[in-house]
This record gives sequence, structure tokens and C-alpha cells, in this order.
Amino acid sequence: MSSDSISKPAAPIGRRIRVRIAPSPTGPLHLGTARTALFNWLFARKHGGAFIVRIEDTDLERSDPKYEKDILEGFKWLGLDWDEEVYRQSERLALYEKYITELLDKKLAYYCFCSKEQLEEERQALLAQGYPPKYSGRCRQISADEAAKRARKGEASIIRFKVPETKITFTDIIRGKITFDSSLIGDTVIAKNTRAPLYNFAVVVDDYEMKISHVIRGEDHIANTPKQILMQEALGFERPQYAHLPLILSPDRSKLSKRYLETSLSDYRKEGYLLEAMINFMVLLGWHPAPEKDEATGRIFEPEIFSKNGLIKSFDLKRAQKQGAIFNIEKLEWLNSQHIKSLDNSELAKRLEEFLPRDWPKEKVAAALVVEKERMKKLSDFVELAGFFFKLPDYEAQLLIWKEMSAAQILENLEELKSIFRAYEALNIEDVIMKLADSRGRGGVLWPLRVALSGKQASPGPFDIIKVLGREEALERIKIAIKKLES
Ligand code: GLU
Repeated sequence: MSSDSISKPAAPIGRRIRVRIAPSPTGPLHLGTARTALFNWLFARKHGGAFIVRIEDTDLERSDPKYEKDILEGFKWLGLDWDEEVYRQSERLALYEKYITELLDKKLAYYCFCSKEQLEEERQALLAQGYPPKYSGRCRQISADEAAKRARKGEASIIRFKVPETKITFTDIIRGKITFDSSLIGDTVIAKNTRAPLYNFAVVVDDYEMKISHVIRGEDHIANTPKQILMQEALGFERPQYAHLPLILSPDRSKLSKRYLETSLSDYRKEGYLLEAMINFMVLLGWHPAPEKDEATGRIFEPEIFSKNGLIKSFDLKRAQKQGAIFNIEKLEWLNSQHIKSLDNSELAKRLEEFLPRDWPKEKVAAALVVEKERMKKLSDFVELAGFFFKLPDYEAQLLIWKEMSAAQILENLEELKSIFRAYEALNIEDVIMKLADSRGRGGVLWPLRVALSGKQASPGPFDIIKVLGREEALERIKIAIKKLES
């Protein structure tokens, strides 16, 4: 292998764009993986390419089909549709075996019989001398025939790739030129046996077999890239282009706490975040749109609210950032409230369904959400905000009293309101009540009215509430308030 071939250019322009998300099903779908999936999906959709899902389940102990299900459901929820059948590495073992055997035959890989204890001892010895740990290459010396015989007989072994000493340079779309010195790497383990490949090797085979043109993944994989490139070279595979997305950091720039990173996407969903808000939020974790000009004021600004279709238009992988992306939960809440506001009411009603108690009548929900839409940060807020429409909360009579007024005065005003509600069936109650309020003092009329209708210290205004409750129920609630003050 010449070092020339190692720095050969990446996939030629014009090659069909094919990208993949390659989650390991060892936990539910988290924000980091969902973000990587989104960037891949946007890139594919933008360029008319293919977006592929590959489940990396070679770690049999840690993989679990229930996580695969969660991951795929998360992609579906976000609308990140994939273009081919889902691939599973566990179903492709024959393929990896073919290439592992090829490397063994070409003597580019070899069986290693070193015991764990032996390796650990050597590691410690190197560390003690101030050297970075690296496998000595001892088992390179064993002849291929003898090694094959020993492995066949069942002697414990693994398979290592012979890492050539060279410099590997690749151009990362986001980070520019990156060079690694492979002499620091040491011979990498690529498989436990010919049918049990490890991550780095299976990725190389799959990216090649699936004709992946661009590998877009998290920054935590940068150190794997030179190893993967060396294996591609050994097998004569074309090199894909690489783009490593920035880490997600907490607001103080420390590594994002597990609390957020390990919050699964389905938890965000259950908390009442819209998929539109999640997409909008995730794309801004590491990417910025091109600034735009406000035609009216001439002001230059960076748009923040995006629909998925809008993103397909404006997304440009080259605008992804190198530096860590700050996770800001207030921003997510704000984006969510913005996207809630822009949903049309019938769609919002549909989204709310899974959050509502079963016995809430649909028509009343539809009326209440018009009133509460502006106040909701999350879908789950609705039950708390609008609960009083469905069941009057128990409240203290004292809450009905406006400032320095006496209970008797308030009672008188409520009696007056009661007659208005009785008498003015067909008329515009608002006008009549406002007349009363203007003659008796606004606070003394509107405050107890609002409290009587809502049972709460804070709520939407009384006329909005009346629209939702209807005249009959409003009247009932006023009667309840009167009783409370009387006793
Ligand atoms: N399976 C790897 C992971 O879940 C991703 C591998 C890759 O994108 O190359 O982190």
C-alpha cells in the first residue's frame, strides 16, 4: 500500500449521494443520534440522494430489538423516512466473513492469541514509561498456517488488522484537512472470529457495499476514521467523504449532562414537544442558516424558525459548525410554543388527543384550545391550563374578593351578574357586563366574575372563558360563587 493511494481524493463529484444513519440498538433513540439522522436525511433530501438506516447490532450482548423498535419509531415520528429496507449487521455476517477471510489470505490481518492479562501488562508497562499504549504486534510473527490451525483447534483468539505505518489525511467537509499518524494506532482488532466482526470493520464493509457517498456522523467518531480509511485501502474500497458533526454541549460548554443527552426522543414527545419543534431545535444544534435581509427594514437577520420543507431548501452541510453546539432547553421551549402557534387548530386538537383525559368532550377541547393556544409551551401544558374548563377547581371564597371590597359588595355584584346571565340569553352579554363594570368599578365586577368562572388566581379573561363554557355553565359557576360567599 503506497502512501499515495492513501491520500487519493474522496468520492468523485457526480457519484450518487447515499448517506446512512447507523445506530447501535443498545438504548432508546437519543437526541444526538436523532440529530445525526436529521442531518443525513436533510442532506439526502436536498440532493435527491438516498437515506439509509443500518442497525449496528453486532454487539449481541448489548443489542436489544426493543431499542431498534424505539429508534425506528423515533425516526418515523420525526418523519425521517428511509429509502431502502432497514439493514441489520447481524444479518450480514457472511459478507463480513468474506472480507475478513480476504484480509487474512492477503496477510493484511492475522490471528492474535495474546491473553487479556498479557495485553494489560504490556499496556501498563508502556504507560509507566510514558508511552501511549499500543499493541506490540507480537502475533504478526506466527505463520498464517500455524495460526489458522491453532484457531481451528479452538485456542482463544481474535483477529487484528495490520495497521501500516503511514500518515493518513482526509478532508472533512466541516473541519477541513485532518491528518493522523497511524504509527500511534497499533494493530486494531477487527473481529472476534471470522463471523464476529467489530464495529470499525463492519462499518467499512457496509459503507462500501451500500455505496455510501458521505459519512455524516458525530465528532466522537473522528478517531475511528483513519482506521477505517486504512481498511478501505487494504480492501481496495473507494473512500466516502466525511463530515463530523460537533458535540452537543450544555450552556456552560461542559459536556452535555446525561439528563438531557440521555433523555430519549420518546420522552420529549411524551412531554409534549412537537416533532416540528424537535427538528427545528436539532438542526440548530450545529448548523446555521445563511443570514437573510428583511425587505421592509433592511435589517440582516438569521432565521430561526424552520419547517421541514423550508429546511430542505436552506440546508447546506458546509454551514455546519466545528465548535460544540450548545443545548438550550429554553430555546426548545420557545421553538415549541412558536410551532404550536402556527399549527392550525384542528391539527393541534389532533396532536393534543394523546394528552387529554378521555372524558373531555371534543367540542369543548376545540373551543378551549383557541383560548389557551398562545399560552402553551408544551402540549402537556394544556391539561393544566385548560383543566378548569372541564372541572371547576375547588377554591376559597376569599379569592372572589377584589382588593378592599367587602364580601357583601362582591356578593351584590355577583347577584347582578347572575340576573344578567339569566335575562340576556340572546344578547351580547359582554356589552351588558361591561356597562355594569363601568358603573360599579371594573375590578369589583370582572375579578369575581373571572374567579367564579375559572376558580383560579390566574386564567384567561372572563369573556374568553364564557365563550368556551357557554351561558348555562357560566351561570352555574356564578351560582356556586354566590353560595361560597353566603356561607
Ligand atoms: N454505530 C455507531 C454509533 O451508534 C455509528 C457508526 C458510524 O456512524 O460510523 O455511534
